[in-house]
Amino acid sequence: MNLQQSSLSKNALKKLLKQQKWEESRQERKAAQKEKDKKKKLEKKKAVELGLIPPPIKKPKPNQITSNLRVVIDLSFDSMMTDTEITSVSSQLTRCYSANRSTSHAVNLFFTSYGQRIQNRFDTKIQSHINWKDVVFDTKSYLERFDKDDLVYLTADATDVIDELDENKVYIIGGIVDKNRHKNLCYDKAKKENIATAQLPIEKCIKMTTRKVLAINHVFEILVRWLEYKDWQKAFLDVIPQRKFNEEGKKKRRIKQNVGATDLKSDILDTVQNSPVKEDELSE
Ligand code: SAH
Repeated sequence: MNLQQSSLSKNALKKLLKQQKWEESRQERKAAQKEKDKKKKLEKKKAVELGLIPPPIKKPKPNQITSNLRVVIDLSFDSMMTDTEITSVSSQLTRCYSANRSTSHAVNLFFTSYGQRIQNRFDTKIQSHINWKDVVFDTKSYLERFDKDDLVYLTADATDVIDELDENKVYIIGGIVDKNRHKNLCYDKAKKENIATAQLPIEKCIKMTTRKVLAINHVFEILVRWLEYKDWQKAFLDVIPQRKFNEEGKKKRRIKQNVGATDLKSDILDTVQNSPVKEDELSE
C-alpha cells in the first residue's frame, strides 16, 4: 500500500479496495456472463428444435424483390397427422415464412385450408404470427382463390419434372408430414381436382442416397433460391448440402437397422424426422 492510499480514511480505503476487487474480477464476470448467454442460447435452440417455441423470424432483407410467383401451402391434411406431425408442420410453416422474409427474391405466400389443429398450434404456441406480414392465412381451399389453369401441385410422385418456374403460375406444396405413410396423397388429390402436377428436378441436381421426398420448408426454400439463382443445382445445394443429405440417409438407415420393430423404433424415427431444422431434411 502506498502513502497516498494510507492517507485515506478507513471508509475510503475500504471503498477503494472494493473497487479494485471489482475491477480485477472483470474478466471472470465477463466469462461467466458469456457462459450464461451460451447456455441460454443453447436452451432456446433446443426448445425450437423440440417445437416448444417457434424459431425467430428474420427481418425482411433490405432491397428485397417480390416476384409475381405465388406459392400455396395446402393445409387440408390436418386430420391425417399425429399431434407431433402437426407440431412439425407448424414449425416448417414458420420456416417458410422466415425464409420468405430473409430471401432476396420473395414470393406471394398463402396458407390455404387453414384451421383445426394447425390453427390451434398457431393460436397457442406461435402467437407472434398475428404480426406476420405478406402472408395470407386462408381457411378456404386454393380452388376458391385461384384459377385452376394456373395451379401446379408440386409432388415427388409426378411424372413431369419442372424445368423453370413460371411467374404466372401458382405452385402448391402439400402441408403434410407423414413419413410417406400416405403414398401418392398429393398426386392423387391433384389428379382428382384436375390440376397439373410436377416434381422438382432433384435427380438432375443431387446424387440421391435416400428418397426424394423433401420437407415442406425445403421445397419452399428451393423455390425462392431458384428465383435468385435461376439454377436448380445451386438452389438445391444451398438448401440441402450434398454432405448432409448423405449423412441423414446413413443415420436413418442405421437407426432402422439397429432398432427392432417396436414402439421405440417409431419413437426414434419420430424424433429424427420431426425435430425441426437440420434433422428433417427429408419428409419421408
Ligand atoms: N406423402 C406426401 C409427402 C409430403 S412431403 C405426398 O403425398 O406428397 C411435403 C410436400 O413437399 C409434398 O406434398 C410436395 O408438395 C412437396 N415435395 C416434397 N418432395 C418433392 C419433390 N421431390 N418434388 C416436388 N415436390 C415435393
